[in-house]
Amino acid sequence: MNEFMMAIESIKTASSILNSFNKLKSLAEVQLKVVELTNIIIPLQARIEQMSIQQTESNDTILKLRNKNLKLTDWESNKPKYKLITFKSGSSAYTKEENISLTTGSPYYCQNCYNNSNSLSVYQPVAAIEKYMENVKHSCPVCHNNIYIPNANYKPHNSSNQNSPVPKW
Ligand SMILES: [Zn+2]
Repeated sequence: MNEFMMAIESIKTASSILNSFNKLKSLAEVQLKVVELTNIIIPLQARIEQMSIQQTESNDTILKLRNKNLKLTDWESNKPKYKLITFKSGSSAYTKEENISLTTGSPYYCQNCYNNSNSLSVYQPVAAIEKYMENVKHSCPVCHNNIYIPNANYKPHNSSNQNSPVPKW
């Protein structure tokens, strides 16, 4: 039996004792019934206080779950706006923009955070972007996942261009 049912049972017993009072004939009988009634009412009070605490805890849990659900619903309704792309470097990330060049300069979102935490975390370059870098290392500030994004302003170094393709002119 749960706390609530037990409390109702106690109240029923207490009211049947009260109903029996006018049938009592002696002070001794009344005193006995008062003791019986007290033995019901004191634990009942403790039980109701306990139920009140549980009720507060339940309300907190409901509120937390409601907020979580709201966040998730919001996330699910925005999710289709983002798509997973793969860079020339082989790294993957989510993006919101359409027809982008898939190079540095646009916000790219961490795949781990997107899939595992339902959150958007923008990749940040780990160092200043230099022209000679073909791919730029980026890191997620939340989960520290690293990816390589092709550099939009890539210009090969003159001194290290032995392996670069021969110009066509
Ligand atoms: Zn991340």
